[in-house]
Amino acid sequence: MLAPKRLLTALALSFMASTAHAADEVVVYSSRIDELIKPVFDAYTAKTGVKIKFITDKEAPLMQRIKAEGENASADLLLTVDAGNLWQAEKMGILQPFTSRLIDANIPPQYRSSAHAWTGLSLRARTLAYSSERVKPADLSSYEALADKQWEGRLCLRTAKKVYNQSLTATLIEVHGAEKTEQILKGWVGNLSTDVFSDDIAVLQAINAGQCDVGIVNTYYYGRLHKQNPNLAVKLFWPNQGDRGVHVNLSGIGLTRYAPHPEAAKALVEWLTTPEAQRIFADVNQEFPANPAVPPSAEVASWGRFVPDTLPVEIAGKRQAEAIRLMDRAGWN
Ligand code: FE
Repeated sequence: MLAPKRLLTALALSFMASTAHAADEVVVYSSRIDELIKPVFDAYTAKTGVKIKFITDKEAPLMQRIKAEGENASADLLLTVDAGNLWQAEKMGILQPFTSRLIDANIPPQYRSSAHAWTGLSLRARTLAYSSERVKPADLSSYEALADKQWEGRLCLRTAKKVYNQSLTATLIEVHGAEKTEQILKGWVGNLSTDVFSDDIAVLQAINAGQCDVGIVNTYYYGRLHKQNPNLAVKLFWPNQGDRGVHVNLSGIGLTRYAPHPEAAKALVEWLTTPEAQRIFADVNQEFPANPAVPPSAEVASWGRFVPDTLPVEIAGKRQAEAIRLMDRAGWN
């Protein structure tokens, strides 16, 4: 038999253990696929004992689900790609801003929400890809120059419906204004060799197959295809190195407004910005770590160094509606 005082202590301890246990879980809604998030979550669970449950789907249904669940939320975190999507989530009111000295120290401010509603975790450049057989790097210079006559019938683009192109267009508007951006987009559309593609891999394959000579793609798709086909006759080019730099976008994460385990979720987000997690998270998709103290993988580094655009990526969200209107006016399908 335990003495009364000992019994009380034992009860208090078991109560504390059970409440701690309830918080030892984080639920993530992710538009990033299982194989890209499981390795980093497994590493966190192994390190801390905190279980991470996640469901994956496209960002729009996930965001709608968080909104519909409201105060009965099951998700603590929303993990998705592109600042355009994260900004939409922020504007829908489904995220809960929080500040963290660790996150502020680990992730540069241009890759975070200025309202602290989300932070970037990995970076990808949306850059030029060209045929190493039919194009010399000296022929290339900037996104804008792809509107020139010399590229007539030689350009491949992905659909304007994809947020990646909307975000790139948003940064063009920020720099050049609407009128000049519309002229650039009309130039691109006029130079297309064929209809727009539904994904970046198809753009790269079209360049490789000789259907076009140049296109605009996210770097990790190049990495993915190059891994499958080391003889790919396509290379990456870093545009705008004399002026505003290469468009960089991100994957990122935000705490949901009614997160059931907010403290455990914040601790996970903080850890995701540390070097240990950054390496796993970026390397598995051939991306650049968002924490500048962490070098990219050897493979990603082999693509060469470049000057990135330093505009805050949330511009992509702020100007998204305008970008969609301009793309439509320019005839970009
Ligand atoms: Fe993608």
